[in-house]
Amino acid sequence: MPSGDYEAVIGLEVHTHLATRSKLFCGCSASFGAAPNENVCPICMGMPGVLPVLNRHAVELAIRMGLAAHCEIAHESIFARKSYFYPDLPKGYQISMYELPLCKGGYISLPTDTGGEPRRIRLVRIHMEEDAGKNIHAADASLVDFNRSGVPLVEIVSEPDLRSADEAGAYLRELHTILRYVGASDGKMAEGGFRCDVNVSIRPRGSSEFGIRTEIKNLNSFRFVEKAIEHEVSRQADVLESGKRVMQETHLWDPVREETRPMRSKEYANDYRYFPEPDLPPLRVSDELVDQIRTMMPELPANRRGRFVRDFGLTEYEANVLTEERDLAEYFERVLAAGLSNRKAAANWVMTEVLRIVNESGKPLREAAPAPSETGKLLKLVEEAAISLNAAKAAFAAMCKSGKGAAATVAELGLSQVSDEAAIAEACDKLLAADPAKVAEYRAGRDKLFGFFVGRVMKAMGGKANPKVVNDLLRKKLVG
Ligand SMILES: [Zn+2]
Repeated sequence: MPSGDYEAVIGLEVHTHLATRSKLFCGCSASFGAAPNENVCPICMGMPGVLPVLNRHAVELAIRMGLAAHCEIAHESIFARKSYFYPDLPKGYQISMYELPLCKGGYISLPTDTGGEPRRIRLVRIHMEEDAGKNIHAADASLVDFNRSGVPLVEIVSEPDLRSADEAGAYLRELHTILRYVGASDGKMAEGGFRCDVNVSIRPRGSSEFGIRTEIKNLNSFRFVEKAIEHEVSRQADVLESGKRVMQETHLWDPVREETRPMRSKEYANDYRYFPEPDLPPLRVSDELVDQIRTMMPELPANRRGRFVRDFGLTEYEANVLTEERDLAEYFERVLAAGLSNRKAAANWVMTEVLRIVNESGKPLREAAPAPSETGKLLKLVEEAAISLNAAKAAFAAMCKSGKGAAATVAELGLSQVSDEAAIAEACDKLLAADPAKVAEYRAGRDKLFGFFVGRVMKAMGGKANPKVVNDLLRKKLVG
C-alpha cells in the first residue's frame, strides 16, 4: 500500500511548568536562569529524611488548566512515587500522580479557519508532578544542575484522537494559548517550560484497530513535533511495506538530520513501581475552592474567537490571529473602545501595523506599541476623514517612538487633512488655469490624465487634501 493509504493515530503528552514563584514541595525559587545549583535545598536535592510540603498555588494553577480544558476536578487525588534511576533524579523517584490524577477527561477544541464545527480532541487526564534536574554533558565530565528539580509541572495527556502532523501542531498551539490565557504557565519552550512526548502509530485507512506505537520524547518546538510526526509516519509505513513489524520503542528526534532514532525499548507502567507517596496526604479539593477558581477564570480563547466573529463581523482567520495572545486580543478590544464603527479596519490595523512594530522591535506589545486608547483615537481620526490612511501610518510610527498621543502627534507633524472645499477648489482652479493644454487633452478623451490632475492638486496641498473632496471637485470642474 502507498503510504497515503495509512492513517496516523497520534496522542500527545505535554509537560508544562506551572507559573509559580517557588517549587512544588519546597520554598526554593522556581525561576529560570540562575547560576547552576543556586535554587536548591535538601528537599529538592532529594536528601534522605526530608519531607515535601505541597505548594497550594501550584494546585490552583493546575485546577485552572483543568477547568479551561473542561476536565472533571477530582475531590481527592493521590501523589505517587514513580521510581526510576537517572543522575538528575538523586532520590530515585519522581513525585507524580498515577491512579488518581487531579483532573480527568475534558477536551480541547481546535480552531478552524473555515467556520466549520471545531474538532474536539479528548483528554485522558491532567496530573501534577515535579520536574527533574538537568544533565549537562561537558567535554570532560557530565554535570547536573538541580535548579529545575522540583519545579511544578502539569502533564496533559490526550486521547489518541489526532490524525495528522498539522492537527497535532494545531492542538499544541491551542493548548499553549490556553495555558497562557489562564495564567497557568508561561509556556516558555526555549526554557523547557513546554515540551511534548508524541505517541504515533499508523493503520490502514478505514481500520478502527490501533497499530503498534512508538514514542518520540522531549520535543520543545511546534515545528519539531510536526516534522518528527511526518518522519515517523513515513518510516513506519516503510517498515510495514517491507513486511516487518513496528517495534514499541522510544525514539529521539534529531533536529539537525531531521530523523528519529531509537533510544531504548519503551518502559511499561509497571516498570516504574508506582505506589502512593507516603510523605504526602491525599490532595483534597473542595467544591468551594473549584467554584472560587472558576469565578476568577478569564474568557477562554475559543469563546473570545466566537465573540469576535459573531459580534465584530471578523473572519475566523482574523479572529484566530487576534486571539492567539491574550494581550493582543485585549489591545484590539481597547482600540475598538475609542468608538470605532469600522471594526474590520481596526482589526486589519492591529494585525498589520501593531504586529509589525511588535515583531520589528522584539519588545512585548505594551512596550512596543502606543496605548490602545491612543491607537483607537488615531483610527477615529481616519474614520472621520480628518487624516488620511497614509498620514495615520506616519503618525503611528512616530507615536511608537515618541510615546506621545494621537492628537498631539497629528498636530506636530501637520498631518490634518484639509476637507475645506473652498481651499481645495482654489487649488484646483489654479492648477487647471496653469495648464490649459492638458485640460483640453483630457476633455478630448484622454481619461488617464485625471490621475495626473489629482496628483498635482494633492502635491500642491502638501498631501493633506481629503482625496475624496479633490476627486469630486476636479470631476465637476473638468466637465466644465
Ligand atoms: Zn528546594
